[in-house]
Amino acid sequence: MVESTKARVLIIGAGSVGAVVTRKCAKNPDVFSDIMLASRTIEKCKVIQKQIGSKKVQVAQVDADNAAEVGALIQRFKPDLVVNVALPYQDLSIMDACIETGVPYLDTANYEPPNVAHFEYKWQWQYQDKFKDAGIMAVLGCGFDPGASNAYCRYIEKHHLDEIHAIDILDCNAGTHHKAFATNFNPEINIREVTQVVRHWENGEWIETPPIMDPGCVHMTYDYPEAGPKESYLLYHEELESLVKNIEHLERIRFWMTFSENYLTHLRVFQDIGLTRIDPVKFQGVDIIPIQFLKALLPDPSSLAANYQGKTVIGCLCTGIKDGEEKTVFIYNVCDHEQTYQEIQANAVSYTAGVPAACGAMLMATKAWTGEGVFNVEQLDPDPFLEIMAEQGLPWTVTDSEKLP
Ligand code: NDP
Repeated sequence: MVESTKARVLIIGAGSVGAVVTRKCAKNPDVFSDIMLASRTIEKCKVIQKQIGSKKVQVAQVDADNAAEVGALIQRFKPDLVVNVALPYQDLSIMDACIETGVPYLDTANYEPPNVAHFEYKWQWQYQDKFKDAGIMAVLGCGFDPGASNAYCRYIEKHHLDEIHAIDILDCNAGTHHKAFATNFNPEINIREVTQVVRHWENGEWIETPPIMDPGCVHMTYDYPEAGPKESYLLYHEELESLVKNIEHLERIRFWMTFSENYLTHLRVFQDIGLTRIDPVKFQGVDIIPIQFLKALLPDPSSLAANYQGKTVIGCLCTGIKDGEEKTVFIYNVCDHEQTYQEIQANAVSYTAGVPAACGAMLMATKAWTGEGVFNVEQLDPDPFLEIMAEQGLPWTVTDSEKLP
């Protein structure tokens, strides 16, 4: 059980993940006495405010690319904590505003410059001393993956294995949304992520393989608990970077995600005709960025929730040593799209991203997680995090398993 406190939380970003974070914070009035949801388009905040129906949720308009604007909002609302669930492009400006005002920070995705499809922690890790000097904590990547996945690895190291040598993070969405093509979270961020050259880490070096829509990409069939066998593709994901740094004895780490043939075919076509480009293209005298135009055409991920069936299964397959013997365990969560819709009108992808962010915020608000500086989730105690996630709808299971080749 989380301790009672009366914290004020500022949530930035009224998208599909922001709606889940706001609802979960509102459902925990013992922890959060006051909530402000701020975003670029205030109407989106008002829709969420109305759906929640709690007087405790205030709304505001903010351009989070502008640190001074975020700083002014912080000065006005005086939060104990800022949760950033806008886009990765806003991470640094919001972190700047937090340092300026001395308020702790949490996000779910690492910084990515808008004009380069490349995400890595280096920009946010450079804030280490600034957060230390300001005497405040920043928790990076506190969604499901990254987030719960990082905590799962630390939890296995703490309770099930003496050393971890290999990690395979497995992310399966076995749900059906009945659209010809849609992404489960922000289409621009999602497509930038999955069209990248793939990297995994083995014996001290990063190994590159072709992107998931290329013929030479690496894939396998994995038999997921409750979801069954699904084609899973090797993908680069941001938690690999921090886990390589923070999990001692690691020899190999990979990330796999399931994709349907239909999804990959669409992606190939978008790529082939230039719709995934992130550079400006002149159209009728104005510059447009094709991927942003594509985003405007695709379904809003939050609109998928009402008609989503099936489950997500996300977990970490960890191989290592226990009492001198090699051992493999799988730690995972199963989340049901229809149940998350019934609970808070969200699909399971937004739910699994937003609930850990709300839980991390609760641990920071109640000082179960404390520190000065910038932290990835595996650097914090996993026990209260897993416990509170289970209480809030994301229980975990650990089973003995087989090592992957
Ligand atoms: P959405 O696009 O649905 O929502 C993003 C929101 O941020 C929108 O409401 C948008 O406003 C707002 N926003 C964008 N730019 C600004 C700005 N400059 N100032 C203020 N608000 C702004 O995205 P999602 O909810 O799907 O994703 C949110 C974040 O969660 C992303 O960073 C994503 O990478 C991350 N994520 C993390 C996961 C994890 O497990 N770790 C999984 C899934 C997502 P507007 O409505 O005006 O466009």
